[in-house]
Amino acid sequence: MKSSPSPASKLVFIDRDGVINVDLGGYVTRPEEFRFERGAVAALKKFSGKGYKIIVISNQAGVGDGVFMETQLEAVQQHMVEALKKENVPIAGTYYCLHGKQAGCACRKPKTGLFEQAAADFYFNPRETFFIGDKAGDIEAGKRFGLKTVLVRTGYGREDEKKLTGALAPDAAVDSLEAAADLEFFQ
Ligand SMILES: [Mg+2]
Ligand SMILES: [Zn+2]
Repeated sequence: MKSSPSPASKLVFIDRDGVINVDLGGYVTRPEEFRFERGAVAALKKFSGKGYKIIVISNQAGVGDGVFMETQLEAVQQHMVEALKKENVPIAGTYYCLHGKQAGCACRKPKTGLFEQAAADFYFNPRETFFIGDKAGDIEAGKRFGLKTVLVRTGYGREDEKKLTGALAPDAAVDSLEAAADLEFFQ
């Protein structure tokens, strides 16, 4: 008997710095420096409550460029995941690009490698799946992969919104991740 195809996962891709946590302008190199954006935990709780798997997609070129070590990134990652676990918010997956800015890798956004990695682990329909980010490169990466996109005006969002005109315009632009979670797209 042929098995029926498994249904696509309901999931949402979310950038980290400037969306989930405050972008420091540099890298978050220690757990103590990690601060959630206002309302971000409530937003993630909302997504989770609506049945979305949450997948974090983040460039961390500071590792490849020698600014901080991968073990430090792991400590920050663990801190974030544990803090959210306490709030009953599971993170289904995290995909980081650790290559340096000039490494020419296939995964540093606006390239799409991190989404390709996620697609190997999760089955989803890109046209019904959103990527929420604060930078123009996030929106560009999402569009290249065929995702829908939301720009948040935290982090670099307010500044980068000006660059996102015409074909680069996101499907929505909102003030925060908390506002994004309330968009009608997310049922
Ligand atoms: Mg960001
Ligand atoms: Zn990379």
